[in-house]
Amino acid sequence: MDPDPVEMANEVRSKVILHWNCRGLAEFPEVIRLHGGHIQEIYLKWNRLTTLPPWITELFNVTNLYMYGNRIERLPAELGGMSQLTVLDLSANRLELVPPCIGSLSNLKSLFLSDNFIERLPVELSQLNNLEILSVSGNQIVALPEWIGSLPRLRELYVDNNQLRELPNRLTIAPELTMISVCSNRLRYLPLNGFLSAPCIRFDANEYLNYVSYPLLFQLLSQLHTTVVHDRDCLAFGCFKTHYDTNVLNTNIKLYVRMKELFETDADIIIELPRQLLKIHEVCENVTCSLWELALRKVYTERYKHTLDVTVSPANVTILYKPLLKKTKLDFTLSTSYTLYNLLTNGPTCICVNSQCQQPIFTEAWIIIGVSRHAESTIMIALCCSRSCATAFAAHSSTTINLHWHTID
Ligand SMILES: [Zn+2]
Repeated sequence: MDPDPVEMANEVRSKVILHWNCRGLAEFPEVIRLHGGHIQEIYLKWNRLTTLPPWITELFNVTNLYMYGNRIERLPAELGGMSQLTVLDLSANRLELVPPCIGSLSNLKSLFLSDNFIERLPVELSQLNNLEILSVSGNQIVALPEWIGSLPRLRELYVDNNQLRELPNRLTIAPELTMISVCSNRLRYLPLNGFLSAPCIRFDANEYLNYVSYPLLFQLLSQLHTTVVHDRDCLAFGCFKTHYDTNVLNTNIKLYVRMKELFETDADIIIELPRQLLKIHEVCENVTCSLWELALRKVYTERYKHTLDVTVSPANVTILYKPLLKKTKLDFTLSTSYTLYNLLTNGPTCICVNSQCQQPIFTEAWIIIGVSRHAESTIMIALCCSRSCATAFAAHSSTTINLHWHTID
């Protein structure tokens, strides 16, 4: 039965919050335009809308717009004119692209885009300086942009059920994060740094994730409110298995870690390091750090350390670093070229784990691989800025059982 227009108009006039969920509506009702200038919240969940009308921008008082469970494929650019919006829910629709106009919603606090067909987040969203909650679970996202770690008010980030292979390094320096949920992705590593705001991190069901860093392990353990964890499932169910995704073609450094010596039943494992790390050394390897790496540490420490504000004007340097590869099977030039500026703005890969030192580490480190006595089934890696820091750490870290490893192609 068609809805009665008079009844609808009366309802719009008498309400501030409009609940028109599950009404089979195929179009955004024009009656709201005619009589709803005062409406503040609109619920149109579970209808059959395929888009929003361009005149939506005339609804000056709407702060909350809930469009969950429609059939929306595209959105009008006029949506960007609703600068008073604080909550926008477009979950469970058919969006393939996030329109750039959403970046103009300067008062937006909560953006829900879960369960669409989104592959990437447009850079315009980096302007959402008031955004506190971002939910993009259940999409096709392969990589999150680094700027996501710079959203100044971001508290909760939900990216479950996507195709993520890694998390942006800059997330570790996001100032307000209290929750990151990235379950059921294809993560092969987590950021090596601890997270500045010590958020709760949920990362269950990432079957290719098989190690964590020393700083992160201790953050995770402290969240479990226990000092002894013998069961790997306590940290993250469905992670820390021995297998490794061999189908991934990339140039990241991979290490073969000898587990058999320690746990007879377990197989040896391959771990993959974050792409920012271009060169690693064993604890006792007596070499000097490259000038490139030393320059990065120096510039970062002098320029950014006290603010962590890496959005300040870029260093005026355009050096390209192209590591020499032993075997060049493919043209890796693009994926392994880094500008100094990129590396600086993404933040250090890790801070030296020697607590006396805490140098930022960007592309080159001395590495210790072991298992912590606090979480014996989880491989842990610790990065140091120099041989002397690595030696000191290895000698004093009584909670770590060191493992043997070598790099593999
Ligand atoms: Zn150090």
